[in-house]
Amino acid sequence: MRHFSADHLTRLTTAIFEAAGWPEADAAEVARHCTLANLSGHDSHGIGMVPLYIRSFRDGWLKPANTPVDRINAPPFLVIDAQVALGQPTATNAVQRAASMAKTQGVAILNLIDAHHIGRIGDYAEQAAAHGLISFFWVNVAGRPPIVAAHGAKEGRWGTNPHAIGIPSPDGAHMVLDFATSRMAHGKVRVALNKGERVAEGYLIDSEGRPTTDPAVAFAPGPLGALLPFGEHKGAGLAFMVELLSAGLAGGALIKDKPARTWIINSLFGILIDPLRLDPDEAARADRIASVTAFLRAARPQDSADPVRAPGDKEREMRALRLRDGIPLDDETWRQIAEAAAWFGIDAEAG
Ligand code: NAD
Repeated sequence: MRHFSADHLTRLTTAIFEAAGWPEADAAEVARHCTLANLSGHDSHGIGMVPLYIRSFRDGWLKPANTPVDRINAPPFLVIDAQVALGQPTATNAVQRAASMAKTQGVAILNLIDAHHIGRIGDYAEQAAAHGLISFFWVNVAGRPPIVAAHGAKEGRWGTNPHAIGIPSPDGAHMVLDFATSRMAHGKVRVALNKGERVAEGYLIDSEGRPTTDPAVAFAPGPLGALLPFGEHKGAGLAFMVELLSAGLAGGALIKDKPARTWIINSLFGILIDPLRLDPDEAARADRIASVTAFLRAARPQDSADPVRAPGDKEREMRALRLRDGIPLDDETWRQIAEAAAWFGIDAEAG
C-alpha cells in the first residue's frame, strides 16, 4: 500500500485523458471526480477506475468524439442521450444544467441515458446541494453481465444500481445518502480482489447460488456468481425500480440486453427541487435540519469509539484524513494505473 497526494493523482489522470484526446476541461473533470471519490473513502469509484476506462477507450467503445445530444429540453424536463460520452463530464454538465433549471422552475426532472460510467453518484447530489437544491438520483448499470441477484434468485439480474439523496445544509455540511443497492459496491469487491483479500460473509453467492467470500466470483473469466442486494426484497425491489426509471422508460441500455464488454454504461434519473419553493423561510429550515441532525448524532453509540453519524459525515471525515495523510492505493491498483499511463507514454511516478 502506497500513499499519493490528491494533486499527484489529479495531474496524472488529467494527463492520461488529455493524451487520449479529450479536451483539458473534460480530462480535468474526470480527474476531479475520481480523486474526490478516493478522498471521500470510495476507492471503488476513484482513480482505480481509470484503467477500465482506458481499456474501454482502447477497445473502441469510449471515444472523445462521442457527444451527448438533447432529446427534450422543455423546462422542467431535460432528457439527454449521452451516446456513450465520457461519463463524469457528461453527467456533471447535465446536473449543472438541471440545477439552473430547478433554480428558475423550482424543480427539474433529468434523464441522462447511455453515458459511459459516471462514477460516485453522491458527487452529483453534492453538486446539487452546492446550488442549495434537494436532489434524488437513481442510476442503472448496463453493458456488463448482471451481477446483483434478484431476491430469492441463484443468479444476477441487475447491476449495482445506486440510489442517492442530497439535502443541502445551510452550514455547507450537506446530507448526502449515496449507496449501491447491492450489499457491497461491485468496485469494493474489485478492491478486495486486487488486495488479495476475502470479503465478509453475507455479500456474495457463487455461480451455483451458494454463499461465498471469494471476490473472484464477481468477475470474469470464471463462472460468475452474484452480489446480494441490500435489505433482501427491499433493496432488490429498489434495484428493479432503478433499472426502469433510469433506462427502462426512455430506452437507455438495459442490463438484460448487453453482452459482456469492457465498458460500463450508466443511465441516470434525477429530480432536483428548490427547497425555497417548499418553505421560503430559509432560517427556519436551517434550524430544523440542525436540530434533527443533532438529535441523530446525540444517540448513545454502541461503540464509544464509533460515533453515530449523519449521511455524508463519513465522507467528510475521510476527506480530512486523506488530505492530510494522502490517498492509499494497493500495489495491483497502482500497477494497472501505471500501465494505463504508460500506454500513452506517461510516467505515473513522475507526478
Ligand atoms: P456505502 O455502503 O459506503 O454507503 C455510503 C453511504 O452511507 C453514504 O451516504 C455515507 O455517508 C453513509 N454511511 C456510511 N457509513 C455510515 C455510518 N457509519 N453511519 C451513517 N451513515 C453512514 O456505499 P456503497 O454502497 O459501497 O457505494 C459506494 C459508491 O459506489 C457510491 O458512491 C455509489 O454511488 C457508487 N456506485 C456507483 C455505481 C455506478 O455504476 N456509477 C454503481 C454502484 C455504486
